[in-house]
Parts: sequence; C-alpha cells; structure tokens
Amino acid sequence: MHMRILIALGGNALISENAERTYEAQFNVARQAMAKLNGILQDNEVVVTHGNGPQVGDILLRNEQPADGVPAMPLHACGSMSQGLISEIISNAYNSVTKTGKQIVSVFSRSLVSADDPAFASPSKPIGRFYKENEARGLAEKYHWSLVNSKNGTWRRVVPSPMPLRILEENAVLELLRNKFIPISAGGGGTPVIERNGMIEGVEAVIDKDLASSVLAKGIGCQKLIILTDVKGAYRNYGTPESELIGRITVSEAEELSRRGEFWSGSMGPKVRASVLFIRGGGKEAVIASLDDAAEAVSGRSGTVIVPD
Ligand code: ADP
Ligand code: MG
Repeated sequence: MHMRILIALGGNALISENAERTYEAQFNVARQAMAKLNGILQDNEVVVTHGNGPQVGDILLRNEQPADGVPAMPLHACGSMSQGLISEIISNAYNSVTKTGKQIVSVFSRSLVSADDPAFASPSKPIGRFYKENEARGLAEKYHWSLVNSKNGTWRRVVPSPMPLRILEENAVLELLRNKFIPISAGGGGTPVIERNGMIEGVEAVIDKDLASSVLAKGIGCQKLIILTDVKGAYRNYGTPESELIGRITVSEAEELSRRGEFWSGSMGPKVRASVLFIRGGGKEAVIASLDDAAEAVSGRSGTVIVPD
C-alpha cells in the first residue's frame, strides 16, 4: 500500500558500531542503510530525517582549534554544517544503490522554537567532548558555557534542547513528496531558530531529532512515523535480565510506560515521546525498530508499534 511516511535514521545508520568516524567509514555505513531502505523509498512517499550527534561533535572539536583569524562558528551554524555533510553522505550512498530510482534532494531545515521555551533556562543536553575540570572552567568563562559533571570526574558542556514547534521548510518538503522526490529534511533535528522583533535568528541549542521528526511528520500529514535505531524497539525493564521487547501498544499504554520511567531520557525517551505526540496529533502508526528490520517496521510487523487508543 502506498503511504506517506517519515523515516528517522539514528546514528547507527551513519556511524559503524566501532565508532570509526572517517568520511569513508560513514559513507560505507550509509550505503548499507540505503540498500536496506531502497524498496521502501521507491514504493512510498518518504521523507528521510537523521541524527547528527557524532558529526556535530567533531565539527565542534575542529571549531575549538581555529586557525589564526578564522572565527569559531556558533553551535547552530555547526549544526547547519552537519546537515550539509550528512546530506552529501546520504545522497551519494543512495545513488550508489540506485541510479534509476526517484531523485533524492536535501532540504536545509530550520526548527522554529519559542524564545520563551523553559529549556533555555536549564540547559540539559551534553554535547562535545569530555574536559578536565580546569580546562572546563577556562572554556566556560571564555565562551559562557554551562557545564555538567560527567563520568570519572570529567566535565561536559550542556546546551538547551527546546521543543521544536515547526520545521520552517515543511511546505517545500511536501511539494517535493508530491512530485516524487525523496526529501532529506530536519537533519540533526533542524537548525534551531527563534523569531524576535520580526527577525529569524539562530540560537545556541540543539533539537532532538526524534521530536523534530514527529513535528515534521505531523506538519506534512504522514500516516506513519518510523524511527530506526540500533535496538529491536523499546523494551520493558531495559538493561535488566527481565528485559522484554514491547510489541503493539496504544498511545495511552505508551504514556503509562513513560510515566513509569521505562525509557531513558536522551535515547529511548524522546523516541517514545515523539511517537506519542505523533499519534496524539492524528498520526495512524508510529514504529520504533531496528534499521535491519526496516521493511517489516513499515508494515507494522516488527519493533514497538504505537497506535491510537
Ligand atoms: P539513535 O542514535 O538511533 O537516536 P539512541 O542511542 O539515541 O539512538 O537510542 C537508542 C538507545 O536507547 C539504545 O541503544 C538503548 O541503549 C537505549 N535505551 C534506553 N532505554 C531503552 C529501552 N527502554 N528500550 C530500548 N532501548 C533503550
Ligand atoms: Mg543516538
């Protein structure tokens, strides 16, 4: 059955598990991902979104050692650079798998957030590398960073992760879908922007890619939201001997499991939250599944399938 679907690709679709982050390694992983997805891409209206954690982390590191006279770029601009980089990798990977299929096209995307979002008052998302205490203090003073104590007494920069309200490019994405293109959009959650005094400005924040995917899927009327990651789905009692894959559940059941704290914040938590928001907003089905099971996930036969009550 032909459907309009949003497929969100997690880090594992782009970075191999042994964490090699060279361009070639990322390209090879992406090529395998595109080979798995090609049938779905040709047979449906699909928009592809992706994460950017490792890539933007590396761009930030390069940013910290600027050549003389080369200014460091703000975080939102680093996110934009990662959209371009990952778009190249996905596009080349796709066309290495098919030369005759639909055309893939990347849409640089911005996520509109509210300047009053409470997340700005309490930065929570760790980004970049781990610093020793004295190093961290120096950087915090120089760049006005917020820091958190991380593992083994190291420190990490934390930034706000506000709620995306709308992908500004959603109408263009919709037109591309209607014209049989495969748009890549909301990469890395989209570049965060606020509207202030009639101006649109980038802000120092990151947007969760699953929440941005949910907002885009809703905005362009997708029937399905498919979140592909490195586990079979969402589990009950994850990380314990009693862990058990959650199959088909209603949105109310998903909310109840979230309330019980079954899903960790920053990983599975936002995927379930994104799914719940999508269904509450009128979506038909949200699936959290492994990239390896993509075809079954689209037909609701693998992973965690969240449906209306
Ligand atoms: P992605 O890069 O695909 O967005 P994440 O690393 O953010 O992936 O999220 C997937 C991870 O979520 C899994 O590898 C797993 O470690 C973690 N996780 C946390 N809670 C759960 C849970 N209840 N069920 C399954 N996975 C969970
Ligand atoms: Mg991840």
